[in-house]
Amino acid sequence: MARVVVLFDFDKTMIDCDSDNWIVDELGVTELFTQLLPTLPWNSLMDRMLMELHSQGKTIEDIAECLKKAPLNPRIISSIKSAHASGCDLRIVSDANVFFIKTILEHHGLLNCFSEINTNPSFIDKEGRLRVLPYHDFNSPPHGCTICPPNMCKGLIMEKIRASVSAEGKKQFIYLGDGAADFCAGLKLEGGDVLMPRKNFPIWEIISTNQRLLTANIHEWNNGEDLETTLLKLLNSIFTEEKCSVRTDQLVEVNCKFLTSSITTHDTFSNALPVPR
Ligand SMILES: [Mg+2]
Ligand SMILES: [Zn+2]
Repeated sequence: MARVVVLFDFDKTMIDCDSDNWIVDELGVTELFTQLLPTLPWNSLMDRMLMELHSQGKTIEDIAECLKKAPLNPRIISSIKSAHASGCDLRIVSDANVFFIKTILEHHGLLNCFSEINTNPSFIDKEGRLRVLPYHDFNSPPHGCTICPPNMCKGLIMEKIRASVSAEGKKQFIYLGDGAADFCAGLKLEGGDVLMPRKNFPIWEIISTNQRLLTANIHEWNNGEDLETTLLKLLNSIFTEEKCSVRTDQLVEVNCKFLTSSITTHDTFSNALPVPR
Protein backbone atom coordinates (compact mmCIF):
# COMPACT_ATOMS: atom_id res chain seq x y z
CA MET A 1 0.00 0.00 0.00
CA ALA A 2 1.52 3.34 -1.03
CA ARG A 3 2.33 5.59 1.91
CA VAL A 4 2.99 8.67 -0.21
CA VAL A 5 0.17 10.12 -2.31
CA VAL A 6 1.28 12.62 -4.97
CA LEU A 7 -1.49 14.86 -6.30
CA PHE A 8 -0.97 16.77 -9.54
CA ASP A 9 -2.92 19.67 -10.90
CA PHE A 10 -2.91 19.32 -14.72
CA ASP A 11 -3.07 22.67 -16.56
CA LYS A 12 0.09 24.80 -16.18
CA THR A 13 1.43 22.24 -13.73
CA MET A 14 1.80 18.95 -15.57
CA ILE A 15 1.41 20.41 -19.04
CA ASP A 16 2.91 23.84 -19.60
CA CYS A 17 -0.30 25.44 -20.91
CA ASP A 18 -4.00 25.45 -20.11
CA SER A 19 -5.55 22.62 -22.15
CA ASP A 20 -8.83 24.53 -22.63
CA ASN A 21 -7.01 27.61 -23.96
CA TRP A 22 -4.77 25.36 -26.05
CA ILE A 23 -7.75 23.81 -27.87
CA VAL A 24 -9.57 27.14 -28.25
CA ASP A 25 -6.50 28.90 -29.65
CA GLU A 26 -5.10 26.09 -31.81
CA LEU A 27 -8.49 25.28 -33.37
CA GLY A 28 -9.23 28.93 -34.03
CA VAL A 29 -12.20 29.89 -31.83
CA THR A 30 -10.44 32.36 -29.53
CA GLU A 31 -12.56 35.30 -30.63
CA LEU A 32 -15.88 33.68 -29.70
CA PHE A 33 -14.36 32.36 -26.48
CA THR A 34 -13.24 35.85 -25.43
CA GLN A 35 -16.61 37.29 -26.41
CA LEU A 36 -18.60 34.77 -24.32
CA LEU A 37 -16.22 34.60 -21.33
CA PRO A 38 -18.01 37.37 -19.36
CA THR A 39 -21.38 35.61 -19.80
CA LEU A 40 -20.72 31.97 -18.85
CA PRO A 41 -18.85 30.04 -16.16
CA TRP A 42 -15.56 28.71 -17.65
CA ASN A 43 -16.66 25.06 -17.56
CA SER A 44 -19.99 25.81 -19.33
CA LEU A 45 -18.16 28.00 -21.83
CA MET A 46 -15.82 25.13 -22.71
CA ASP A 47 -18.83 22.91 -23.40
CA ARG A 48 -20.20 25.68 -25.63
CA MET A 49 -16.85 25.97 -27.46
CA LEU A 50 -16.72 22.22 -28.09
CA MET A 51 -20.18 22.46 -29.68
CA GLU A 52 -18.94 25.38 -31.78
CA LEU A 53 -15.94 23.33 -32.96
CA HIS A 54 -18.29 20.50 -33.93
CA SER A 55 -20.50 22.87 -35.92
CA GLN A 56 -17.37 24.07 -37.75
CA GLY A 57 -16.64 20.49 -38.80
CA LYS A 58 -13.87 19.74 -36.28
CA THR A 59 -13.99 16.09 -35.23
CA ILE A 60 -13.09 14.47 -31.93
CA GLU A 61 -10.00 13.11 -33.70
CA ASP A 62 -9.02 16.70 -34.62
CA ILE A 63 -9.32 17.66 -30.96
CA ALA A 64 -7.31 14.61 -29.85
CA GLU A 65 -4.53 15.32 -32.37
CA CYS A 66 -4.37 18.89 -31.15
CA LEU A 67 -4.20 17.80 -27.49
CA LYS A 68 -1.27 15.50 -28.27
CA LYS A 69 0.75 18.57 -29.31
CA ALA A 70 0.26 20.35 -25.96
CA PRO A 71 3.69 21.03 -24.43
CA LEU A 72 4.75 18.58 -21.71
CA ASN A 73 8.27 18.92 -20.36
CA PRO A 74 10.27 15.65 -20.68
CA ARG A 75 11.56 16.18 -17.12
CA ILE A 76 7.98 16.12 -15.85
CA ILE A 77 7.37 12.88 -17.76
CA SER A 78 10.45 11.32 -16.17
CA SER A 79 9.57 12.58 -12.69
CA ILE A 80 6.08 11.04 -12.96
CA LYS A 81 7.55 7.72 -14.08
CA SER A 82 10.12 7.80 -11.24
CA ALA A 83 7.51 8.62 -8.61
CA HIS A 84 5.27 5.84 -9.92
CA ALA A 85 8.15 3.34 -10.02
CA SER A 86 9.01 4.19 -6.41
CA GLY A 87 5.56 3.04 -5.31
CA CYS A 88 3.83 6.38 -4.81
CA ASP A 89 0.09 6.64 -5.40
CA LEU A 90 -0.29 9.30 -8.14
CA ARG A 91 -3.56 11.10 -8.74
CA ILE A 92 -4.79 14.10 -10.71
CA VAL A 93 -6.94 16.95 -9.38
CA SER A 94 -7.86 19.16 -12.34
CA ASP A 95 -10.46 21.57 -13.66
CA ALA A 96 -9.85 20.33 -17.24
CA ASN A 97 -11.87 17.26 -18.27
CA VAL A 98 -11.55 13.50 -18.55
CA PHE A 99 -11.14 13.41 -22.34
CA PHE A 100 -8.40 16.06 -22.49
CA ILE A 101 -6.41 14.57 -19.62
CA LYS A 102 -6.69 10.92 -20.68
CA THR A 103 -5.77 11.76 -24.29
CA ILE A 104 -2.63 13.63 -23.24
CA LEU A 105 -1.53 11.11 -20.59
CA GLU A 106 -2.06 8.18 -22.94
CA HIS A 107 -0.10 9.90 -25.70
CA HIS A 108 2.90 10.26 -23.37
CA GLY A 109 2.58 6.76 -21.90
CA LEU A 110 1.62 8.10 -18.47
CA LEU A 111 -2.01 7.03 -18.06
CA ASN A 112 -1.24 3.87 -16.10
CA CYS A 113 0.94 5.84 -13.66
CA PHE A 114 -2.22 7.38 -12.15
CA SER A 115 -4.70 5.63 -9.90
CA GLU A 116 -7.37 8.33 -10.15
CA ILE A 117 -8.29 11.37 -12.24
CA ASN A 118 -10.50 13.85 -10.38
CA THR A 119 -11.82 16.23 -13.00
CA ASN A 120 -14.91 17.40 -14.92
CA PRO A 121 -16.71 14.52 -16.67
CA SER A 122 -16.83 14.39 -20.47
CA PHE A 123 -18.88 12.34 -22.88
CA ILE A 124 -19.77 12.07 -26.56
CA ASP A 125 -23.40 12.94 -27.25
CA LYS A 126 -25.83 11.53 -29.84
CA GLU A 127 -24.63 14.02 -32.45
CA GLY A 128 -21.06 12.87 -31.94
CA ARG A 129 -20.04 16.01 -30.09
CA LEU A 130 -17.59 16.03 -27.22
CA ARG A 131 -19.30 17.55 -24.17
CA VAL A 132 -18.06 18.53 -20.70
CA LEU A 133 -20.07 18.68 -17.50
CA PRO A 134 -19.26 20.32 -14.16
CA TYR A 135 -17.57 18.08 -11.56
CA HIS A 136 -19.86 19.62 -8.96
CA ASP A 137 -23.42 19.03 -10.21
CA PHE A 138 -25.16 22.41 -10.65
CA ASN A 139 -28.48 20.76 -9.66
CA SER A 140 -27.16 20.11 -6.16
CA PRO A 141 -26.57 22.92 -3.62
CA PRO A 142 -23.46 25.08 -4.30
CA HIS A 143 -20.25 23.84 -2.71
CA GLY A 144 -19.92 27.17 -0.93
CA CYS A 145 -16.19 27.68 -1.42
CA THR A 146 -15.32 31.26 -2.35
CA ILE A 147 -11.83 30.44 -3.65
CA CYS A 148 -12.86 27.88 -6.28
CA PRO A 149 -15.09 28.14 -9.37
CA PRO A 150 -18.71 26.88 -8.99
CA ASN A 151 -18.06 23.66 -10.95
CA MET A 152 -15.29 22.35 -8.71
CA CYS A 153 -13.79 22.88 -5.24
CA LYS A 154 -10.36 21.29 -5.04
CA GLY A 155 -10.41 21.48 -1.23
CA LEU A 156 -13.47 19.23 -1.19
CA ILE A 157 -11.74 16.81 -3.55
CA MET A 158 -8.69 16.82 -1.28
CA GLU A 159 -10.94 15.92 1.68
CA LYS A 160 -12.61 13.17 -0.34
CA ILE A 161 -9.23 11.66 -1.27
CA ARG A 162 -7.98 11.82 2.32
CA ALA A 163 -11.14 10.08 3.54
CA SER A 164 -10.90 7.38 0.87
CA VAL A 165 -7.30 6.42 1.71
CA SER A 166 -7.44 6.92 5.48
CA ALA A 167 -8.45 3.30 6.12
CA GLU A 168 -5.11 2.21 4.63
CA GLY A 169 -3.16 3.93 7.41
CA LYS A 170 -1.07 7.07 7.71
CA LYS A 171 -0.44 8.82 4.38
CA GLN A 172 1.84 11.63 3.40
CA PHE A 173 0.48 13.94 0.71
CA ILE A 174 2.47 15.95 -1.81
CA TYR A 175 0.36 18.40 -3.83
CA LEU A 176 1.60 20.24 -6.94
CA GLY A 177 -0.32 23.13 -8.47
CA ASP A 178 -0.30 26.65 -9.87
CA GLY A 179 -3.80 28.09 -9.36
CA ALA A 180 -6.02 29.61 -6.67
CA ALA A 181 -8.04 26.38 -6.43
CA ASP A 182 -4.79 24.54 -5.73
CA PHE A 183 -4.33 26.84 -2.74
CA CYS A 184 -7.79 25.70 -1.55
CA ALA A 185 -6.57 22.09 -1.80
CA GLY A 186 -3.38 23.13 0.01
CA LEU A 187 -5.45 24.38 2.95
CA LYS A 188 -6.57 20.77 3.52
CA LEU A 189 -3.00 19.48 3.79
CA GLU A 190 -1.70 18.71 7.26
CA GLY A 191 1.63 18.93 9.05
CA GLY A 192 4.10 16.56 7.38
CA ASP A 193 2.38 16.98 4.01
CA VAL A 194 4.04 19.06 1.30
CA LEU A 195 2.60 21.75 -0.95
CA MET A 196 4.59 22.36 -4.14
CA PRO A 197 3.29 25.67 -5.56
CA ARG A 198 4.50 26.95 -8.92
CA LYS A 199 6.45 30.11 -8.25
CA ASN A 200 5.06 33.40 -9.65
CA PHE A 201 1.74 31.80 -10.59
CA PRO A 202 -1.59 32.68 -8.85
CA ILE A 203 -1.10 30.17 -6.01
CA TRP A 204 2.25 31.80 -5.24
CA GLU A 205 0.71 35.25 -4.92
CA ILE A 206 -1.98 33.90 -2.56
CA ILE A 207 0.56 32.05 -0.43
CA SER A 208 2.70 35.16 -0.11
CA THR A 209 -0.08 36.90 1.85
CA ASN A 210 -1.73 33.84 3.47
CA GLN A 211 1.14 31.55 4.40
CA ARG A 212 0.06 31.37 8.05
CA LEU A 213 -3.10 29.52 6.93
CA LEU A 214 -1.03 26.60 5.64
CA THR A 215 0.27 23.81 7.85
CA ALA A 216 2.03 21.85 5.08
CA ASN A 217 5.69 22.34 4.25
CA ILE A 218 6.14 24.46 1.14
CA HIS A 219 8.60 23.66 -1.66
CA GLU A 220 8.21 25.93 -4.66
CA TRP A 221 9.21 25.20 -8.25
CA ASN A 222 9.49 27.19 -11.48
CA ASN A 223 9.68 24.82 -14.42
CA GLY A 224 9.91 21.14 -15.40
CA GLU A 225 13.54 20.79 -14.34
CA ASP A 226 12.76 22.35 -10.99
CA LEU A 227 9.68 20.21 -10.50
CA GLU A 228 11.63 17.01 -11.08
CA THR A 229 14.55 17.97 -8.86
CA THR A 230 12.31 19.13 -6.03
CA LEU A 231 9.84 16.24 -6.17
CA LEU A 232 12.46 13.51 -6.41
CA LYS A 233 14.56 15.07 -3.64
CA LEU A 234 11.48 15.11 -1.43
CA LEU A 235 10.66 11.49 -2.19
CA ASN A 236 14.28 10.54 -1.69
CA SER A 237 14.29 12.18 1.73
CA ILE A 238 11.00 10.54 2.71
CA PHE A 239 12.18 7.07 1.72
CA THR A 240 15.63 7.66 3.25
CA GLU A 241 13.98 8.69 6.48
CA GLU A 242 11.82 5.57 6.43
CA LYS A 243 14.86 3.33 6.06
CA CYS A 244 16.55 5.31 8.81
CA SER A 245 13.70 4.83 11.22
CA VAL A 246 13.75 1.09 10.59
CA ARG A 247 17.47 0.66 11.13
CA THR A 248 18.93 3.19 13.50
CA ASP A 249 21.69 0.88 14.71
CA GLN A 250 23.83 1.07 11.60
CA LEU A 251 24.31 2.99 8.42
CA VAL A 252 22.47 1.20 5.68
CA GLU A 253 23.35 1.57 2.05
CA VAL A 254 20.47 3.56 0.61
CA ASN A 255 19.44 2.26 -2.76
CA CYS A 256 18.60 5.57 -4.32
CA LYS A 257 16.65 5.38 -7.51
CA PHE A 258 16.24 9.10 -7.65
CA LEU A 259 18.43 12.08 -8.28
CA THR A 260 21.94 12.20 -7.00
CA SER A 261 21.86 15.72 -5.64
CA SER A 262 22.31 16.25 -1.94
CA ILE A 263 19.52 17.08 0.44
CA THR A 264 19.59 20.75 1.34
CA THR A 265 18.86 22.23 4.73
CA HIS A 266 15.63 23.39 3.12
CA ASP A 267 14.29 19.86 3.34
CA THR A 268 12.37 18.95 6.40
CA PHE A 269 13.81 15.80 7.83
CA SER A 270 16.31 14.95 10.50
CA ASN A 271 18.46 12.02 11.40
CA ALA A 272 19.55 11.72 7.80
CA LEU A 273 21.61 9.08 6.18
CA PRO A 274 24.09 10.17 3.56
CA VAL A 275 22.50 10.47 0.17
CA PRO A 276 24.43 8.78 -2.65
CA ARG A 277 26.04 11.25 -5.04
MG1 LIG B 1 -3.43 24.59 -13.08
ZN1 LIG C 1 -12.37 25.38 -2.80
